[in-house]
Amino acid sequence: MTSPTSTLNIFGSPSRYMQGAGATRSLAREMGRLGLDGPVLILASPRMRDLLEAVWTDIFEAAGQVVMVRTFGGECSGSEIEAGIAAARAFGAAVIVGSGGGKCLDTGRAVASELGLPVVNCPSIASSDAPCSALSVVYTDAGIFDHLQYYPKNPELVLVDTELVAKAPVRFLVSGMGDALATWFEARTVAQTRSTNELKGTPTLTAGAIARLCHDVLIADGLAAIQAVGAKVVSPALERVVEANTLMSGLGFESGGLALAHSVHNGLTAAPGTHSSLHGEKVAFGLLVQLVVEGQPTEEIDRVIAFCQSVGLPTTLEDVGLADLDDATLAAIAERTVAEGESSHHEPFEVTASLVSDGILAADALGRAAF
Ligand SMILES: [Zn+2]
Repeated sequence: MTSPTSTLNIFGSPSRYMQGAGATRSLAREMGRLGLDGPVLILASPRMRDLLEAVWTDIFEAAGQVVMVRTFGGECSGSEIEAGIAAARAFGAAVIVGSGGGKCLDTGRAVASELGLPVVNCPSIASSDAPCSALSVVYTDAGIFDHLQYYPKNPELVLVDTELVAKAPVRFLVSGMGDALATWFEARTVAQTRSTNELKGTPTLTAGAIARLCHDVLIADGLAAIQAVGAKVVSPALERVVEANTLMSGLGFESGGLALAHSVHNGLTAAPGTHSSLHGEKVAFGLLVQLVVEGQPTEEIDRVIAFCQSVGLPTTLEDVGLADLDDATLAAIAERTVAEGESSHHEPFEVTASLVSDGILAADALGRAAF
């Protein structure tokens, strides 16, 4: 018998993933098929509430399910989660549905987990790899990264209405592409070093293949998808990039694992200047830092920079709100990047704060030179 401490290969995913134009209208029917009955609490961003409340009333009434909509306050923080738990308890919710951006979904998931309820994620934008995963990113009320909260299960259902994605500002799709672009490079490092993925197992070949496909779809269809959103229409290229940003990136990061890029993201949140940047924008710059610190071939780094600049992802400190970065802030970012438990330690060499500081400045220099 092998030692009980040996690590197993682990792959996780939501029970069901649905995507397409007008998918919202299938939400109640699909929840019924999955046995998700009882009072439904929908935690919705203000925009989704405006756009969809009438549709929800309609479809849940037709399905004979009671529904209550609660407006999300904007930050996935301890206080927002507590308020959601209180509302769900008072309503007697049996299912939690999140409808909005990543932070809204993360809050819904934290509420559901605390109450032991199933959760359905309906992302309104394709801006990050979060919707399919079994973890929430919890921030302080001031928007500083606080901790990752892991759950035993992935969502019961992830439903993406690509009409909503097509009508959202293009910046969200581009940010999701930044998050998704890092997926394969991080999974590659984790596979090389036999580090653990986000499920505390070692990565399967399946996760690696999904991460690679995620990368290839972005390179092939990224620009066309951006053009579709510019025209506010759903196209096959947009459908493929939404799947890459949401499903492939979600499965890829969780089951393939994270490395330095996402740790640099976490480090960047320590600098107030970066707070107006989105998750995937900071991850894109973090990826550049990862590739530089790993000493990857110039050709590969140049390709990543060229792609990022072609779609409007950050490649310089100025792009992530840090045009006048001082030494103290740089040191704080680097310290946060190498904090205990960070995926920066999945790299094949010791990652120190000074290595990260130098990597950040070197990546910025490359990004600036490429313009
Ligand atoms: Zn991410």
